[in-house]
Amino acid sequence: MEIRYCLSLDQTEGNDMKKSAVYPGSFDPITNGHVDIINRGLSIFEKIIVLVGYNPNKLSTLFSVEERMAMIRDVVGDDPRIKIDSFSGLLVDYVKRSNTCCILRGLRAMSDFEYEFQLALINRKLRKSVESVFLMTGSRWFYCNSSIVKEAAALGESIDDFVPSVVSKRLKEKFPDMKINNSEI
Ligand code: ADP
Repeated sequence: MEIRYCLSLDQTEGNDMKKSAVYPGSFDPITNGHVDIINRGLSIFEKIIVLVGYNPNKLSTLFSVEERMAMIRDVVGDDPRIKIDSFSGLLVDYVKRSNTCCILRGLRAMSDFEYEFQLALINRKLRKSVESVFLMTGSRWFYCNSSIVKEAAALGESIDDFVPSVVSKRLKEKFPDMKINNSEI
């Protein structure tokens, strides 16, 4: 009897693990491409942890961790299926600690593939039970990445097509001297 009870507990835990995924990234800032991955990820997973990664020794991001998390919260609202967290360190340790077993990532071009392939293999080597799941970018967001969005914003180009309005506002605040050029990017 006791053994059966333990078995069923383990199975329940395993099922819960399978229902959630960690979506890690720098999100500096969150773009429509990220939002698309989160929304589509929610059709596969019941819960997604959007994990803002940071390296305490590198201060090269435009937005602080707190600012990035706040923007994500503004964009996703209070959807109980989405948790927002930050981390520094080994991703697989976070995945284990958070009782999930899956890393969700997005793929744009072939250049993403090579990097993501290496990352997935090293993560699996470090923790055999951690799987990576990839979603292809939505065709509208193929060219959309945080670096390009920041560069365009710094040069005064309109980035409204690539980021949620709250992010666009925050980018304009970061680059107040730039006059928005309304011609097409
Ligand atoms: P970026 O590469 O834009 O700086 P991140 O490091 O925050 O973004 O990326 C986190 C994850 O989101 C990565 O798996 C990345 O490939 C994915 N991602 C970023 N932008 C897009 C997009 N436009 N479409 C699909 N996936 C994306």
